Amino acid sequence: MLIAHIPAGYLTTRGLLRRFAVPDGAQMRILLLGVAASVLPDLDLFWWHFVDHRRQVHHAYLTHIPLAWIAVFALGALVLMLIRARREAWIAGAVVAANVMIHLILDTTAGGIRWAWPFSQHEFALSHPPAAHGAWIYNFVLHWTFGLEILITIAALVVWLRARNRRTAGFAPS
Ligand SMILES: [Zn+2]
Repeated sequence: MLIAHIPAGYLTTRGLLRRFAVPDGAQMRILLLGVAASVLPDLDLFWWHFVDHRRQVHHAYLTHIPLAWIAVFALGALVLMLIRARREAWIAGAVVAANVMIHLILDTTAGGIRWAWPFSQHEFALSHPPAAHGAWIYNFVLHWTFGLEILITIAALVVWLRARNRRTAGFAPS
């Protein structure tokens, strides 16, 4: 997935903010956290590029392994429970977890994700963009899954514009 992670993170987090009725004061903080979490697994690109010298697909790293994240989230939930964390901390944890899992689901549309690791090395993928063009980026941009990316991006843009208009209307003198 090339462009849709951040828009998808924005949409996911907006939805969760509404569902959890997060107070206005905390909304921007949690929104930024959610958008950051939406690209969190792709931080492995730095390792892949600078340390591993592109020796394997970056989806093979632990940062793209769903069960590894689920273990981290379970541990995080345990810590929150032990410290009797406030409601906002639970919401923040849920927002991070949802965004990371949506990232992995979206990555499954055009590239393999090892959903059953460590029990299986099989890479589950909805599609594999064929290597039909010289530059790898064309293989993704000209594949149908890029249409899905554009749809997600447009949806996020619409939601963002509507939210901005509501804010502007709220501040307008009556
Ligand atoms: Zn990714």
